[in-house]
Amino acid sequence: MTDPTARHAPGRSGRQGQAPGQTQGQAYATADVARSVKTIRSLTSASFGKSTRNMVHFFGTRHGPSYGGGREERGTVQTAEPDDPVVVSVRQVHGTDVLVLDRPLSAGEQFLDGWDAIITNQVGMLVTIRTADCVPVLVADVAHRLVGAVHAGWRGAVRGIVAKSLRAMVERFGADFASLQVAMGPSVGPCCYEVDTPVLEQLPTDLPDASTILTRTSPRTGRLDLKALIRQQALSLGLADDRIHSVDLCTMCRSDLLFSYRRDGNVHGTMVNGIMLT
Ligand SMILES: [Zn+2]
Repeated sequence: MTDPTARHAPGRSGRQGQAPGQTQGQAYATADVARSVKTIRSLTSASFGKSTRNMVHFFGTRHGPSYGGGREERGTVQTAEPDDPVVVSVRQVHGTDVLVLDRPLSAGEQFLDGWDAIITNQVGMLVTIRTADCVPVLVADVAHRLVGAVHAGWRGAVRGIVAKSLRAMVERFGADFASLQVAMGPSVGPCCYEVDTPVLEQLPTDLPDASTILTRTSPRTGRLDLKALIRQQALSLGLADDRIHSVDLCTMCRSDLLFSYRRDGNVHGTMVNGIMLT
């Protein structure tokens, strides 16, 4: 389900219910846009949020939040106070390893290998991944009380990081594919993501509808829709189309709101995305 009207995460902005760039008056439109963008710290998928009760999720922007985002914090469990939720982040390596967290954690515990997905059945554990063009994929199973966060760039997506994460929720925690919900956040869109031979050669050739994933722009180049690739992978596992949600903002187009490695280089920053059982 496409969700073009991504809204603010509850409690994270003083301007509830207003989509990015959406203004209430014509005369001050420019000023309103500038002000509203500055106050947006994170986005949510409204449709995913409605169908995942007793959970919170967010897709970060260049204005925040910063949970677990600092280089020195990655791989170390953070919490402000003993009774606060714990925040888990990991060092991401564009691989396909899934970190499975099935026990309570305390501040200071460390996970120092590389992972690109975290899944958990623990209440009050905020699992986070960082992105800046790659697709942040949040996963939830309401019936089995499970959540996960996945970092899916083209390498990870082609190697099946999303499918591997969904399978891990089934095999390790007893979820079933029919009850899983997926939300994809802002990423570089097919409007801007031109790839060439090294990427094209590794795209899967056995997908049912490859034309939605790649639009050829020359014999050696094409525009890649990473979200369409991930959607097809999730559908092929048995997820229902209306349980696959998407916030279709492009990181390269929205310099006001989002970081982009391809646009800015990697000196600027990454956005933190997370989900938690409450
Ligand atoms: Zn774009």
